[in-house]
Amino acid sequence: MQYVSTRGSAPALDFEGVTLAGLASDGGLYVPAEWPRFSPDEIRAMRGLAYPDLAARIMAPFVAGSLTEDELLALTHKVYGDFGHAAVTPLVQLDAQHWLLELFHGPTLAFKDVALQLLGRLFETFLARRDQRLTIVGATSGDTGSAAIQAVAGLERVEIFMLHPKGRVSDVQRRQMTTVRAPNVHNLAIEGSFDDAQAHVKRMFTDSDVIHTLNLGAVNSINWARLMAQVVYYFASALQLGAPERTVAYSVPTGNFGDVFAGYVAAKMGLPIERLIVATNINDILHRALSAGDYSADGVTPTITPSMDIQVSSNFERLLFDAGGRDGAAMAEQMRAFEASKAMQLTNAQAQGASALFTSARADQVETARALQWAYRAAGQVIDPHTGVGLHAARALADAGTVPAGVPLVTLATAHPAKFPDAVERAVGMRPALPARVGDLFGREESFVEIAGDYAATRDYVLGHAGNA
Ligand SMILES: *Cc1c(COP(=O)(O)O)cnc(C)c1O
Repeated sequence: MQYVSTRGSAPALDFEGVTLAGLASDGGLYVPAEWPRFSPDEIRAMRGLAYPDLAARIMAPFVAGSLTEDELLALTHKVYGDFGHAAVTPLVQLDAQHWLLELFHGPTLAFKDVALQLLGRLFETFLARRDQRLTIVGATSGDTGSAAIQAVAGLERVEIFMLHPKGRVSDVQRRQMTTVRAPNVHNLAIEGSFDDAQAHVKRMFTDSDVIHTLNLGAVNSINWARLMAQVVYYFASALQLGAPERTVAYSVPTGNFGDVFAGYVAAKMGLPIERLIVATNINDILHRALSAGDYSADGVTPTITPSMDIQVSSNFERLLFDAGGRDGAAMAEQMRAFEASKAMQLTNAQAQGASALFTSARADQVETARALQWAYRAAGQVIDPHTGVGLHAARALADAGTVPAGVPLVTLATAHPAKFPDAVERAVGMRPALPARVGDLFGREESFVEIAGDYAATRDYVLGHAGNA
């Protein structure tokens, strides 16, 4: 499979190339040159497959030319054999129509493990083949950092420097990063906000001192391999609910538009998806874009769902490119204008292409808390606030008839409630316990360095401590 950039001028790459590259050299994002498609018979034949076998079946066309089927199967068995639930992503029924898809049975209790655990192994495989090393530099507001560190800890050819804003991530999130003791893991607590940390990282990718010394890599969801791994659980859940004979709808708590874009990919591959609900918190740029065509950024307000407090959703560009007719030159122009003015209108083709499958809804903090209360009282389920945003949107659009009553409606449960215990306790009056498999998170020793807020201090630390410098 070949991959092309959404901005039209970067070279096409194979799967190995896009996995190691992250962002395309023209600033765009890589997407497959065409969507592989499964027939209803092929989908029917996937029923009953164990998750690792299903994962290999779904991902095979995307990795063709870079991994053999045996190599892929070995990877999926290694990665998904280690999850905390035999089904990997189990479904839980809430009432006649509503379901939860639990995506938090990986090591750091959020859905990001499903893809990052695989990405770590893919890095190791491809770097060994090329006899190269990779230095990952990233900034995190919590979930991505912990999942990425867990995914690469102890790998021989990968080193990770993860910046978090000092004092601004939750205790659970911080400890999931700082108690991982491996020589290739470096935690940096940076004075300032997440945006400051993120700005340092972006600057490092264009700093010639850095890029001439280190082979830099990215782990955020601009990396295609992450989205690919997330397509699998749409198939797994729809098959259990009767696909391909029956259509299924999904509500997806959305920040960077990665997880819900994976649902779009599943639909393009032939899975009969009735509707994808893009659920946002009050940072609702995507809701405004999908309901009124107005994609304009206006600052981030902190909420009880920090992983969705995002101003600009990188992966939305992938949808605009595909729905708008795959015109890379036009996309490059549209994104240049957006980067200058922080606002753009969707073209008619983009708006129509998006509305064929997507509907959006937003939840404020009161609505989110009510969704947690409903799940607890009506179905005995303690859910996290991000999942609550999704469940609020699902119930609102089912009540409005946007999703017909006979269609199963699955809300993606993106994090374990124990990751956000304060917000959960305020909403439902009980404090969720950490699952036993994360071990003694609060008894383990932490290790991180504190770095002053300026760029030079961060860069000097990374250059001074990178083993492959
Ligand atoms: C990252 C994250 C999201 C948002 O996912 P995107 O792919 O960025 O849209 C939602 N919920 C949780 C718990 C997350 O960690």
